Amino acid sequence: MSEVSNQSTGYCPDPDSWPAVAAALDRAGVARPGGFTHALVFRRCARCLQDNVVREGVFVCVFCDAGLPHAWNVDPGHS
Ligand SMILES: [Zn+2]
Repeated sequence: MSEVSNQSTGYCPDPDSWPAVAAALDRAGVARPGGFTHALVFRRCARCLQDNVVREGVFVCVFCDAGLPHAWNVDPGHS
């Protein structure tokens, strides 16, 4: 494995969660890069509950234009 994307893994961790992902890969003996190669920032809109991909640091819901929280709030267990 030469690339790890938090999009392709099927869940939505914050890019800040990379150390946990890296540790899991190390335990599994999987070769890994130094970080997410295609890091995406996910936020769930508090108004319309849609999951957004934050692009270029703009924390605005693309669905309803509500502001998105700057803290990660996408729980993969309840998506
Ligand atoms: Zn919204």
